[in-house]
Amino acid sequence: MPSRDAFREECGVFGIYGHADAANLTYLGLYALQHRGQESAGIATWNGSRILVEKEMGYVHDVFDEARMKRLPGKSAVGHVRYSTAGESRLENAQPIVYNTNKGPLALCHNGNLVNADELRHELEEQGSIFTTSSDSEVFLHLIARSRQENIVSALTDALLRVRGAYSLVLMSGERVLAARDPQGFRPLTIGRLGSSWVVASETCAFDLIDAEPVRDVEPGEVVVLDVGGVASASFAMGRRTAYCVFEHVYFARPDSVVFGRSVADARRAFGRRLAREHPVKADVVVPVPDSGVYAALGYAEESGIPYAMGLVRNHYVGRTFIEPKQAIRNFGVKVKLNPVRSVVGGKRIILVDDSIVRGTTSQKIVRMLKQAGATQVHMRISSPPTMNPCRYGIDTPHRKELIASTHDVEATRNFIGANSLGYLSLDGMLTAFGRGEDQTCAACFTGNYPVKWEDMPEQRTLFEPVAIGEVDDEVDDEVDDEVDDEVDDEVEVEVEVDVERKETALDTALDIPADECVPAIAVEPSKE
Ligand code: SF4
Repeated sequence: MPSRDAFREECGVFGIYGHADAANLTYLGLYALQHRGQESAGIATWNGSRILVEKEMGYVHDVFDEARMKRLPGKSAVGHVRYSTAGESRLENAQPIVYNTNKGPLALCHNGNLVNADELRHELEEQGSIFTTSSDSEVFLHLIARSRQENIVSALTDALLRVRGAYSLVLMSGERVLAARDPQGFRPLTIGRLGSSWVVASETCAFDLIDAEPVRDVEPGEVVVLDVGGVASASFAMGRRTAYCVFEHVYFARPDSVVFGRSVADARRAFGRRLAREHPVKADVVVPVPDSGVYAALGYAEESGIPYAMGLVRNHYVGRTFIEPKQAIRNFGVKVKLNPVRSVVGGKRIILVDDSIVRGTTSQKIVRMLKQAGATQVHMRISSPPTMNPCRYGIDTPHRKELIASTHDVEATRNFIGANSLGYLSLDGMLTAFGRGEDQTCAACFTGNYPVKWEDMPEQRTLFEPVAIGEVDDEVDDEVDDEVDDEVDDEVEVEVEVDVERKETALDTALDIPADECVPAIAVEPSKE
């Protein structure tokens, strides 16, 4: 049987080529990407003869101190922040994953979720591969090692043609840094320039922190190589149906990033403006649920002419763990993060704007808090359609039966959260504001139309809210219909074309080092060739 350990990822990746301060810049890049994963952080560098890696559970600033950074010399580096659910919160799943392979030492960072990882892992295990993590990301390294192609770009391309699903990858091969994005482009990945150095990151906010200039996105179905020759590009499946994750713009990406060529803040404002047109209501003040509802609330206020005010204050210093009081305090979990401003909400009719409702319990508590603080009415407005389906492509969502919209219609949800009215942005409204049609977008968590087939794999869960609602209908099970778009399947056409004429460099020779000189090696994949 293939491993049934769940593959649950939500991550940020970063890479840099050709800078004397590569590790420190990677640290800063990861710092900016911390919102994409808080479970573990890691950096690997190439010191001229071997890969060095430091990784640990925890936040970036907790994992890396001065002593640790000093152990990461080199001009090339890759880094990773990872989110995982409880039970998988293990150091061996932290990235970069470093392997000695017959293609040389490699350090891999992955954001996304593969839908055929179980199947591939089973096949690889049958052939003798030994996995050291429960992460789907390790599949890439085994496939690269088994490729009969000797060149790392061709071997990576070989591997990418076997996998299906979402991946934005950064791979260090000796001094070279490679980056690749799946043919649908689910997750963002973008290239920047810092003087004569090249950087690649999940989001442009990582460039801002290090004063790098954004250059362009890694295109869906493209591999880029950053090395002494500059930036080279190899296409393995470009020009196919894209499936940009609209949820990146709804919730996940930072508003100061440009994702899929569009400012996230601008997209969220557009969602809010559209929401105001679709669901107007008489009220005194527009209040966002911070931080995710801020820009949509600004858009709603602009369009409606109703004043905007921060009626909820967020405590930004809440860590992942805190000591719970022995005596139960009502709404404790929400109160520790959010507190109403009585002078703003007291005696007011409030339009409360959030990005989504997942289980409904958090919304219920916020509505209750606002009413306890004196709000006379609370009208909930959501800047996306009802979230009815789990994500299969790398965002950690609850099981379908835990999603309130899958079992409750709008009126039942309104009743559950205790709002005076409830309005969701329509699918058409969201996509219009996103600026792309459904044929270029993944909106499966709203529509159930999954653009890439997925295997029977455990659902991801619980990024958003810590407790389950009790009133879900168990008759609605986890089965998601198999309505998939067969036009986008696993038969990706093999088409490798190197756009920039490249010659083998001294770096290729540098890769030719004895495997035992690459430390620390998390695992050694013996050559099967
Ligand atoms: S299912 Fe939702 S969260 Fe997942 S990739 Fe599609 S739009 Fe994004």
